[in-house]
Amino acid sequence: MPNKPDYYAILGVSRDASQDEIKAAYRRLARQLHPDVNKDDPDAEEKFKQLNEAYQVLSDPEARALYDRFGHAGASYTPTTDPFDMAENLFQMFFGGTLGATPRGAVDGDDRRVDLTITLEEVLHGAEKTVTVERLRLCERCRGTGAEPGTTPERCPDCHGSGRVRYTQTTILGTVSRVVPCQRCRGEGEIVRSPCRECKGNKRVLRHDSIPISIPPGIESDTALLIRGAGDSGLRGGRDGDLYVVVSVAPHPRFKRRGRDLATQINLTYPQLALGDEIEIETLDGKVTLEIPELTEPYSEITLHGYGLPDPRTGKRGDLHVRIGLKMPKKLTDAQRNLLRQLAEASGVRLKKYASAEPSSFFEKLKRSVKGEE
Ligand SMILES: [Zn+2]
Ligand SMILES: [Zn+2]
Repeated sequence: MPNKPDYYAILGVSRDASQDEIKAAYRRLARQLHPDVNKDDPDAEEKFKQLNEAYQVLSDPEARALYDRFGHAGASYTPTTDPFDMAENLFQMFFGGTLGATPRGAVDGDDRRVDLTITLEEVLHGAEKTVTVERLRLCERCRGTGAEPGTTPERCPDCHGSGRVRYTQTTILGTVSRVVPCQRCRGEGEIVRSPCRECKGNKRVLRHDSIPISIPPGIESDTALLIRGAGDSGLRGGRDGDLYVVVSVAPHPRFKRRGRDLATQINLTYPQLALGDEIEIETLDGKVTLEIPELTEPYSEITLHGYGLPDPRTGKRGDLHVRIGLKMPKKLTDAQRNLLRQLAEASGVRLKKYASAEPSSFFEKLKRSVKGEE
């Protein structure tokens, strides 16, 4: 077969790629190129066929060794009708039924995932949200048969309805043969001659559906909520996939979360810490008056019990820890500087900066300048 693309190039791997690399490349490309998700690409089906052929050869060490030596020489596909053939269905093995290659067997729908970000306020109260899910659901027009209403699918002439064909490669070292899913019918054993106009014979259509979701109070960030059956539709009696809604909590400008508890910091001036004060602070429940006792140590903590987040099971709320920081002024006025120097003297603190400048004390100097001396 001339001009047949190189199997390694199709999979995008190097010639010394490991089996794991080949498998990973195949899985990634199979999802990308699957005709169900590539309806706009007229070549999708052909690319998907080539991908499967490349994988079937390169994932088999014996076949791969022959291919490395002799290339595409003598490769051919012939039908098999033996349902008890020992070869396992490769699709089934690696996808757990995802791509639907078990002849006439049930195919489970894929799970789907959406991400949802909520606020800390929504963690406190819980929330009713709506997520938009991209998912493959059974086509309503053909009810998932893929055939235009009024027509029926035909038996596949390549595999005679078995969904499998024997792949044989003849080389000078001998013949390699194994059973693989039929490419013409994609292992389904039947062919739709008049495809449904809506799903183009794919049985399912890609939809963007809005799904309501209830967020319970107290949810932890990165929790996956499971909605059973809300993923892709199963085919031929397979179960529907599930939907995972992964909920993360946006960082809050004021509060940090530590499990059930919240932490925040307010910065107060030195006089407020030293003399005590009564201040208003923001909590998730609104403004609350907070008593600052006299001589509060900077960076100590005041705990407001019951102002944290609820436990998801008991509803019991955690605490809010308020750290009391020290707020320094951006610059000092002369009046403030003088008062602070008085405070330092009264506290018995000798400030080097001022002590070395003049033998007499700052106050002596002040008095003298008031009386007009010097
Ligand atoms: Zn349809
Ligand atoms: Zn077939």
